[in-house]
Amino acid sequence: MVTIWFAAPAALWAAYEAPLRTALAEAGVAAALSPDCPDPGAVDFLIYAPGGAAPDFSAFTRARAVLSLWAGVERIVANPTLTQPLCRMVDPALTQGMVEWVTGQVLRHHLGLDAHIRRTEPVWAPVVPPLAAERPVAMLGLGDLGLACARALTALGFPVTGWARRPRALADLPTDHGEDGLRRVLGGAQIVVTLLPRTPDTEDLLNARTLGWLPRGAVVINSGRGHLIDEAALIAALDAGQVGHATLDVFRTEPLPPDHPFWHHPRVTVTPHIAAETRPASAARVVAENIRRSLAGEPLLHLVDRQRGY
Ligand code: NDP
Repeated sequence: MVTIWFAAPAALWAAYEAPLRTALAEAGVAAALSPDCPDPGAVDFLIYAPGGAAPDFSAFTRARAVLSLWAGVERIVANPTLTQPLCRMVDPALTQGMVEWVTGQVLRHHLGLDAHIRRTEPVWAPVVPPLAAERPVAMLGLGDLGLACARALTALGFPVTGWARRPRALADLPTDHGEDGLRRVLGGAQIVVTLLPRTPDTEDLLNARTLGWLPRGAVVINSGRGHLIDEAALIAALDAGQVGHATLDVFRTEPLPPDHPFWHHPRVTVTPHIAAETRPASAARVVAENIRRSLAGEPLLHLVDRQRGY
């Protein structure tokens, strides 16, 4: 019998309790699972989601892993008390949600749907959109989410170029890396999608200089993290027409404050961090599988590299 502490905001317990109990049973794990912190020294696994004060993990001396319900781990990865292995969430349903959201946002801009949705006058003015093959897309981040989105857009016919930290050789996708690579990738894109984690290296990646590498009027779609973009530089680029539109799902401060200029900017679309949600049923299976693996002495899946920060 293992002891598992559901160290996540109380509101999530109702959604996760039944799926977790089912998934643990299916994985053959006998567990005492509770949202109330048991004796820390007796806890074998922590299921974690941010919310509230930064936790102190040092008392969890027996814990074999901390299993994040979130894909992004920037709020825990640098916690100095965390010495246990940290696994992030790679949930097939979350990935599917991101693919749908990104594809929808790209198609909105590609097809010029706003001109029809926001029409105020009865003007019959056909503008035939180009085919996807004529609309190059840059995908910044080729992890579980970025790669799935890049492949979905490729399947629709968009010429997608990916960009990541390390050189990648992918049979089905041209890729680049490094600062020179970023310049090349941005320089050839009419739509750029950012699906990078927040790390010291990705902070303000899109800034006045790099936004200037985009062709004039390019669209920015950010569903990675708000910190990837220098907000003042983005607004200046939008006002100058360098960036044609920004569709943003993530922000430095969430909820986005009511007086933030993004809310009222005519060329900014705000969505409230809904691009992709961890889904309890599939996420519970991911967590249970990692617990089973740990108990069986098998390598954990989706381990976070503390040095890289993701
Ligand atoms: P992964 O860890 O699987 O992939 C991260 C990707 O980013 C990798 O391709 C990595 O490169 C690249 N990368 C990291 N640092 C750099 C850098 N300095 N320069 C260039 N590339 C870099 O993450 P996921 O794909 O699962 O998720 C990406 C992010 O999406 C999450 O961290 C989270 O912030 C965000 N997210 C947003 C959600 C939403 O609802 N809006 C929901 C879920 C996640 P390499 O391949 O070389 O390692």
